[in-house]
Amino acid sequence: MHGYVPWVRLAPLTTLRLGGPARALVEARSEDELVETVLRGGEEVVPLAGGSNVVVADEGLDATVVRVLTRGVSMSRDGDDVVVRAAAGEPWDALVDRCVAEGLAGIECLAGIPGSTGATPIQNVGAYGQEIADTLAAVRVLDRRTGAIEELPPQACRFGYRTSAFKRDPGHRVVLEVALRLRRATVSGPIRYGELARALDAAPGEGAPLADVREAVLALRRRKGMVLDPDDHDTWSAGSFFTNPFVAPGDLPEGAPAFPQPDGTVKTSAAWLIEQAGFCKGYGDPRGIAISSKHTLALTNRGAGTTSQLVALAREIADGVRERFGVRLQPEPVFLGHAWPG
Ligand code: NAP
Repeated sequence: MHGYVPWVRLAPLTTLRLGGPARALVEARSEDELVETVLRGGEEVVPLAGGSNVVVADEGLDATVVRVLTRGVSMSRDGDDVVVRAAAGEPWDALVDRCVAEGLAGIECLAGIPGSTGATPIQNVGAYGQEIADTLAAVRVLDRRTGAIEELPPQACRFGYRTSAFKRDPGHRVVLEVALRLRRATVSGPIRYGELARALDAAPGEGAPLADVREAVLALRRRKGMVLDPDDHDTWSAGSFFTNPFVAPGDLPEGAPAFPQPDGTVKTSAAWLIEQAGFCKGYGDPRGIAISSKHTLALTNRGAGTTSQLVALAREIADGVRERFGVRLQPEPVFLGHAWPG
């Protein structure tokens, strides 16, 4: 195992490039190392993989951070499907790329999402009408309370919109491996999102070749600054900072996008609410923290930002939306070393 390195700055390990040091950092390159580090350190060990969905306090955190760098992908046929098993530390976008190349359908719309495979079930990562819950076959986890390694079926993950049992109870389990059940096909399922369908020239209800879907998603995400690029500060973000809110139909602001849900609520667009509340693209400090110039939902570090500045801007935006529309925005990233002052 790689040794414990004391007081390592976490900023370079996050896509926001923000945050102070951890008391110690240890790299786990095998499942055994990961399990041993977590169990040995108890509650004071915080797993970190891609760093793409975390907001680390400027003061850092008085804990050991274990970097999840485990690797390994296997594929096995199961009737018309293939079950893909990937170690938690496998970079997600590379896994999507490989599955598309192998003619496996089900995650092609999730191309370009930064971070690790193990992080995808935690917030039930989703984009363009696909979410990880659609294809997840099982998750192998370490139960930190009992020390047992368990294989959880999808229903035990209690997936919801950008949430899961893992997100609701963060200290309970560490994801070790994700198993996905993908369909052997060269064409995707029906493209559900209009923007993507238009990019692919696909009629409603039609699919498109997997590789084309992946390319179209990557092009759309790039245009919005949602594909990591070290030279582009618009991508120095944690992706969407707020989740899209669900409201009762009567509480939907006039003119807001409306996506009715099976439970009778309506999903609306956080980006629309933010813009209508007066926060435009680029709003903020051009050298510190500002809204991305390409996407209203991304708060970005222009190079000299701090986490406290980021939280202050997020607070200002959330307060502005609540005052204007009475809707409470919830942040999507995980806060480490501090809490969302919501
Ligand atoms: P957009 O196309 O500007 O649309 C705004 C919101 O409307 C989206 O967030 C999406 O909700 C919702 N929406 C659009 N068409 C829909 C449909 N046919 N049915 C249901 N809901 C619909 O959104 P965007 O910000 O550019 O993002 C495009 C996609 O990439 C979204 O799915 C988004 O979630 C995903 N994405 C995720 C992240 C992240 O950090 N998690 C970052 C960038 C993009 P949903 O978000 O629920 O899909």
